[in-house]
Amino acid sequence: MLGRPALNRVDELRGDADRVAAFWADPRARVLVLFGDSVELASPAPNPTLRLTPTSEFGAERPSQAFLLGLDGEAPVFGLIDDSNSAAEADAGNRSSLRQIGANLNDRDSELITTTMALGNWHRTHPCCPRCGAPTVVERAGWVRRCPVDDSLHFPRTDPAVIVLVIDSFSNALLGRRTTWDDTWFSTLAGFVEPGESAESAVVREVGEEVGVEVDPASVQFLGSQPWPFPSSIMLGFHAFARANQGTRPDGEEIAEARWFSRADLFRLCSSGEVKIPPKISIARHLIEAWYGEELPGDWSR
Ligand SMILES: [Zn+2]
Repeated sequence: MLGRPALNRVDELRGDADRVAAFWADPRARVLVLFGDSVELASPAPNPTLRLTPTSEFGAERPSQAFLLGLDGEAPVFGLIDDSNSAAEADAGNRSSLRQIGANLNDRDSELITTTMALGNWHRTHPCCPRCGAPTVVERAGWVRRCPVDDSLHFPRTDPAVIVLVIDSFSNALLGRRTTWDDTWFSTLAGFVEPGESAESAVVREVGEEVGVEVDPASVQFLGSQPWPFPSSIMLGFHAFARANQGTRPDGEEIAEARWFSRADLFRLCSSGEVKIPPKISIARHLIEAWYGEELPGDWSR
């Protein structure tokens, strides 16, 4: 799962231009470069590590598209977006995306890549002031954009989504198959939290909308969360409980099929490949295995 803390994010130093410049000039300083949605690897799978480049290779001055991620021990680490054509044309052979390598990264590299992607995606899509349309300037080492016309400040956004494994009173688990997925793929249900709504209310609403199952609002239990920068979400993970013997009514738009699985059935179907569940990078997998009690075989990447 993504999102275990490893980095000192030094929020208090981001506004100190001299300190940030000194971090950039530090011979230990490194940069993680994001090419589209991919990064370069220093060592390949099955134990991938990210390739971090000395800041000196990008010049003595910090480029405007480089942002301070934090300190790894004493060493400053920056993220940098490279969307140039030459970057796209360069050898992409040793590049990988978060989806490909995320499950096997160590905690530090996991935090570096999820933060770089989330912040990079925000900078790419928020170049202008939402009030007046003027181009904004980047401040606080990449963590704020300010409008020079009306002085408004704009912060990187994170969109909360809920993801839930519904369990009935016979301990069966409810998994759904999206309309866009292979016939064998099943996972937990998920959806965005709406403005003015609690995460728990979003769980009850989403399960009702997507598959027509009634969840007991008092039973919704938070299990953990993970950043999901595709492009800018955080997934809040829950178990929720429901009366047994409820039929399902998939909405047909997002969910094509929803089924209740006993532990024995899910183990048998995952073993035979008749059912495939999400890979280990995902909180969905964590929610399913937390209910099952141990690891399950296979996933839909294979
Ligand atoms: Zn403005």
